[in-house]
Amino acid sequence: MPNHIMSCFKCSKKLTNNIDKQARSFFWGSDMKCAPVAWEEVCQPKSTGGLGIRPSAYFNNAAIAKLAWKVINDQDNWWSQIMRRKYLRKVSFFQAKKKQKNSIAWSGVLDARDLIMKGMRWIIGNGKNIKFWTFNWAFDCHLLHLIPDNKRNMINLEESVAESIINGKWDKAKLAFVLDPNIVKQILSIPLPVCEQEDEYIWGPSSNGKFSIKSATWLQYDHLRKHSQSKLINKLWKLNVQPKIKIFGWLLLRGRLKTRDRLSRFGIINDNSCLLCNRDNETADHLFGYCEFTKEVWRLANINTPVD
Ligand SMILES: [Zn+2]
Repeated sequence: MPNHIMSCFKCSKKLTNNIDKQARSFFWGSDMKCAPVAWEEVCQPKSTGGLGIRPSAYFNNAAIAKLAWKVINDQDNWWSQIMRRKYLRKVSFFQAKKKQKNSIAWSGVLDARDLIMKGMRWIIGNGKNIKFWTFNWAFDCHLLHLIPDNKRNMINLEESVAESIINGKWDKAKLAFVLDPNIVKQILSIPLPVCEQEDEYIWGPSSNGKFSIKSATWLQYDHLRKHSQSKLINKLWKLNVQPKIKIFGWLLLRGRLKTRDRLSRFGIINDNSCLLCNRDNETADHLFGYCEFTKEVWRLANINTPVD
């Protein structure tokens, strides 16, 4: 994988699609044409039941966002210093406009600002640098998303959090004017610093507040689909067995093994009966639990039958 290039420059869609295609082909091999699990599902995080394979476009965006994070946070990094001196002499990082004469790397870094904003979690100090409606400071999303459409023309998007704090307390009446009472209640419970201090921010998606490419990759998914067996699947990854056994177990738990029952449902074979006992349909439950033959194997191995 051209990780180094993808960590420096924004790649074209054609290139990232091509890399994904190669990855898909490598992973499924001869099963590529009728893959048991959709690639979008494979590319979900392991915590939600996927395999944690990162789509290359998302990885690319996350890696470039890491450079952007460096520009705004790492004062000692030489590259950041050069970029700041070259492009940010008169404007802030978030106000800088994209120009034709920008280097390819810098253009990519500017494109990463949306992702940075999405993951930035602000901690209130004096509230002067935090935009009330469009920064993540109260929740993991902007407050703008939480107000009804018909009230959006009543607000000033440039308004800062400081403008909702009066004498060290939240301006309750102002918050209640456009926000749902439950949201207001949650905002009122956010503690304000006793003495004046600058606003700070962390990288919200990481538990330690530090930027990580992994968290920035998954942040780009609008909805992570949690598989119903994701808890069991997570236990599976912790087992001390060969990777191919884990993948087999993963397919089993997702109900995507090529059992005769499934093959006959897709019209690939006509007979769906179990080859071991020839009594019932060969479903995954039957094959690994209810089949008399299997029960005997479990008994000899001194393991309780999983379905009992
Ligand atoms: Zn059987």
